[in-house]
Amino acid sequence: MNINTVISCSTCDAKTHCRIGMSNRVFQPLSFLCEGCGTAIEIDIKGMRGSGLRNAVEIEFDRDFLDQQDHYFIDLHLDFPIWSTSYVMGRTPYLVASQMVDKNKILINGIPAVEVFRIRLDILNHFGERFNEVKQLLKLYPRSNKELFRKKAIEFLREDRSPSIAPEDINLLLYTVLSRVTLAFLEQRTVEEVTSGYPQIIMQLAQTRRNKFDEFYHYIKDTGFLDSLQRDCLSLYGRIFEIELYLRPAIFLDFCTGQEGKKSSAKVSKLGFEHCKDMYKDLSEIVGRQLALVAGLNNLIHRGDHNSFLASKDGAALSSLDKFANKVLSEKLKYLDSCWYKIDDELLNTGIRNSIAHYTFEYDEGSQIITCYPNKEGLRQDTKIEITFLSFMRMILVQFREMHYLRHLIKSLFYYEYLVLKKQPQSECGS
Ligand SMILES: [Zn+2]
Repeated sequence: MNINTVISCSTCDAKTHCRIGMSNRVFQPLSFLCEGCGTAIEIDIKGMRGSGLRNAVEIEFDRDFLDQQDHYFIDLHLDFPIWSTSYVMGRTPYLVASQMVDKNKILINGIPAVEVFRIRLDILNHFGERFNEVKQLLKLYPRSNKELFRKKAIEFLREDRSPSIAPEDINLLLYTVLSRVTLAFLEQRTVEEVTSGYPQIIMQLAQTRRNKFDEFYHYIKDTGFLDSLQRDCLSLYGRIFEIELYLRPAIFLDFCTGQEGKKSSAKVSKLGFEHCKDMYKDLSEIVGRQLALVAGLNNLIHRGDHNSFLASKDGAALSSLDKFANKVLSEKLKYLDSCWYKIDDELLNTGIRNSIAHYTFEYDEGSQIITCYPNKEGLRQDTKIEITFLSFMRMILVQFREMHYLRHLIKSLFYYEYLVLKKQPQSECGS
């Protein structure tokens, strides 16, 4: 359903014709900048309870109004990217988005892509309303009272089963919670593809290089690295829901590859880049730390020792995993030779990351263009990268997925401890 309305800016009296496409979300907070004066206008649609407006008033809409020239136009839809720049009758955000779907994705397992998207949004709506519960629950996990986590997780999942508080069962329960709450953000097939190999890699190393693998495991465990990394990962799951309103159109881009790059028009129907930029920074930070696990395993696979790096093209080999951990993200990638884990270089766009981290960027809320100046050039800022807010949200989504895949690796490493190390001490293996 679409609503046509005319909004008059309280600051400059400019009139904007808004065509609002309805989402299934109960509360739909939309916002845009008045083109006349740059005032942020907010429209809150509260389902059956009507709607609220800030910094503007609604005026009577009639079809004759469309023939008048002295007004602006905007399409708004919480769930879809907005590609339109002017009003075309019938070309609603939903219709335009449906037509953007990749030819090979129009039907996914016999279900239309827009329907698959709707199902994912329903899941998002469900957990979005419970995200404080998700946050609280995940804070309980690292604490010593496992019984409390177990009780709250079962309540949260609304399940009858009653797992024990053995560490492997609690680990599985955490995994079930995370898989359930992230359903809307992930493509399940990719999750299965990416994560199904982890236990095999770990078990293979345990069988072929038991001493050295255990040395690696004890190192990441005894230094507290594995536990603190897991804790930091868990903190991001609750936070992803805090920016879910901005991620919805980025999720839709799963169905229309590469369309976020149309920077002249692809927009998000809510203002708030400021709310999202820290998430990008924190995700890259944590994915960067997770890479130490990838590197340790890679060194074990290729050279039989987690500290044994191959010399990089630019210089001597690193002497230890600790040294690797101190490197910046882009440097780290150079030390992952023939890596068992495929990391998307695009994902770690260092130019953008550096700009966001060092505040060398400008954001134009009207055009929704982020201009990044990655190189420190004194007062001159010649090198710039421009991306849309939508592309930026897409990068956050892709990074979140990467963090989630690598959290599966953490889970698999803990399983190794619970199911192998604790039940079958090394001395009994004869290796
Ligand atoms: Zn105005």
